[in-house]
Amino acid sequence: MTARRYVGRFAPSPTGRLHLGNLRSALLGWLDARAAGGAFLLRIEDLDPDRSKPEHVAGLFEDLQFLGLDWDGEVLHQSRRAEAYREALEQLRLAGRVYPCTCSRAEVARAASAPHVGEDGPLYPGTCRAGATPKAGRTASLRFKVAPGVVRFHDALHGPFVQDVEHAVGDFVVQRTDGVASYQLAVVVDDAATGVTHVLRGDDLLSSTPRQLQLIDALGLEAPAYAHVPLLLQPDGKRLAKREGALTAAALRARGVSAEALVGLLAKWSGLGDGTPCRAAELLPGFSLSKVRREPTVVHDEELDALVQTT
Ligand code: GLU
Ligand code: ZN
Repeated sequence: MTARRYVGRFAPSPTGRLHLGNLRSALLGWLDARAAGGAFLLRIEDLDPDRSKPEHVAGLFEDLQFLGLDWDGEVLHQSRRAEAYREALEQLRLAGRVYPCTCSRAEVARAASAPHVGEDGPLYPGTCRAGATPKAGRTASLRFKVAPGVVRFHDALHGPFVQDVEHAVGDFVVQRTDGVASYQLAVVVDDAATGVTHVLRGDDLLSSTPRQLQLIDALGLEAPAYAHVPLLLQPDGKRLAKREGALTAAALRARGVSAEALVGLLAKWSGLGDGTPCRAAELLPGFSLSKVRREPTVVHDEELDALVQTT
């Protein structure tokens, strides 16, 4: 096997401005790619027409540039990739791996009453797998027939990860009722089409990875390496969200926070350095994912207040 050149990517959803959690994933993804002498791609995950906004796309270019993170080549917009997703769905259909499902959310939730709740919402009980009669007046989604057995992979930060997708999630949606490809399918198709070799993203997607690996396998694609970075938490242990509006790069910048101060703090939260303000490129020498903190980081209000006052 020949070593492939490192190709990383950052794939934000333009549903708001980039907040501290996204920014940290972007910074670490960029550092990992650039330290390896690799490419770093940018993909806009704008499949959800109701939540994605063009002004947020412009905003995230601005936020990345502010942080000093550059990217290579054309930006890929998922909203323009319908043809590629259709082809992948056709390939899965020919292989007998998808089927239409007309179950409503409520029906799935009812059928999956505890203890059969999966890791990401209710476990799909497979109602339509055997070809249930489509319910009149309902548009069907397409579900992927998951393979039995466990999926294993090695995460650069978490180590070995094992999931029985059939019992943790069940057959999952690859095309929504509105005809749009699901996140799981689009990610796999786009990463492969753009030659991505390394996926670095937030911990919240760790449990999606086995599903994506099953799709990669069914489509005959090559799996990338994965690194899921731990979340930023509020002192109460919840995901950093309470002050999310105030914790975007844009909001902090408007309050006079410099890029250097922000980069220094993002680096400190990742176990890299003591928070001294610096440019992103200054973190490159000696950077290694093995130095990145593996535990979630509790973000204290005082740190954020100090950020605003000292810059
Ligand atoms: N669009 C996803 C998000 O913003 C990230 C997808 C990925 O990195 O695979 O959470
Ligand atoms: Zn169904």
